[in-house]
Amino acid sequence: MQRSPILIVHGGAWAMPDDMTEANEQGVFDALQAGWALLEKGATAIEAVEAAVTQLENDATFDAGYGSFLTRDGRVQMDALLMDGATLRAGGVACVERLRNPIRAARLVLDESPHVYFVGEGAEAFAASHGMPLIANEELIVDRERRRLEEAHERERAGLPDITFSGDDKSPETAVKPEPGFGGLGGPSSGPVDSHDTVGAVALDVDGNIAAATSTGGTLSKAPGRVGDSSLIGCGCYADNQSAAVSLTGWGEPIMKLVLGKWATDRVQMGRPPEQVAQEAISYLYQRLGGHGGMILLDAQGRWGIAHNTPRMAWGVHTADGPRVGVKV
Ligand code: ASP
Repeated sequence: MQRSPILIVHGGAWAMPDDMTEANEQGVFDALQAGWALLEKGATAIEAVEAAVTQLENDATFDAGYGSFLTRDGRVQMDALLMDGATLRAGGVACVERLRNPIRAARLVLDESPHVYFVGEGAEAFAASHGMPLIANEELIVDRERRRLEEAHERERAGLPDITFSGDDKSPETAVKPEPGFGGLGGPSSGPVDSHDTVGAVALDVDGNIAAATSTGGTLSKAPGRVGDSSLIGCGCYADNQSAAVSLTGWGEPIMKLVLGKWATDRVQMGRPPEQVAQEAISYLYQRLGGHGGMILLDAQGRWGIAHNTPRMAWGVHTADGPRVGVKV
C-alpha cells in the first residue's frame, strides 16, 4: 500500500537564546527541503534522513559536523547512526575527526559492511576506502566554539557550576532539575539545559518504510573518546517498521542508561500512540534520572510525536500538506 510520506527533523533541545531562533528555524527548514525533495520523488526513508542530516551537519548552527562543540582539548569529535526500519540494518561511527559528514560514513557502514559500528581511525579508514575524503579537523571548527570552550574552562577555573555535561550525571536524588527560563551560555542563570544541539531525522516513505538518523559533535568540553547516546542503537536512534523510528537529543548519559529510544519504540509497538509515548519518554527521563532533552518519534502508519523538557527544541515536520517548523512544541 502506498503511504503519504512524512519527514521530521530536529536540531537539538536546549535553552536556545532568542537571537538564535531564526537560524535554528531556517536550519531545520533547509533540512526538511533537502529530505523532502527526495521523499516526494519516491526515494527511501533512509535516503531522506541521510539527506536531511547531511544538510544539518553542513550548517554551522548545529552541534554536528561543521560547527560542532569542541572536546576538552579543542578538537571536533563526532558520532552518527543511521537505521533502516525495513531491514533493521544499521550503520554507526563514533569519535571520527576527519570526516565532513559522519552520517555519510554511517550510511556506508550500513550499505557496504557486514558490521554495524566503527570507531575512530578505523571508521575514518573505512570511510576513506569507500571514497570519502579525509579532511583536517580544523576545517570543522568555528570561532564560536573556540570561544565557548574557553568560556567553559574559565567557569571551571572560577569554580562556577558546570554547564557542559561533559562529566557524569547526577543521582535521581541530587540531579539538577531543569527549570524554565535558563539564560544563555555563561550568563548568570546558566543551567543544565544550556546546550544540546545534536541533529536528527525520522522519515516514512511511500512504500511504508521508516528510518532514523542522528548525528552529533557530543557535549561541550567532553573528554576525548567519550561517546554519548546519539550514535548508539536504541539510545539516541532506532528504527523498526514494526514499532517506530526515533531520534533523540539531550544529555547523553541518562538517555543511554535508560536506552530511551528503544524504550519509546517498544511502547509504540505495544499499541500506544507516538504522540503520547514521546511525552512519556521525556517525563521518564526526567523522573528517573533528572535528565533532559527532546525526541522525535514516527511510526509506519504515519503517526508521530515530538516532545522536550528543555525551554526550546528546533523541530520541523514535512507532510503532503507542506513544511512546519518551530523552536517550541
Ligand atoms: N546527546 C548528545 C550527547 O550526549 C548531545 C546533544 O544532544 O546535543 O552526545
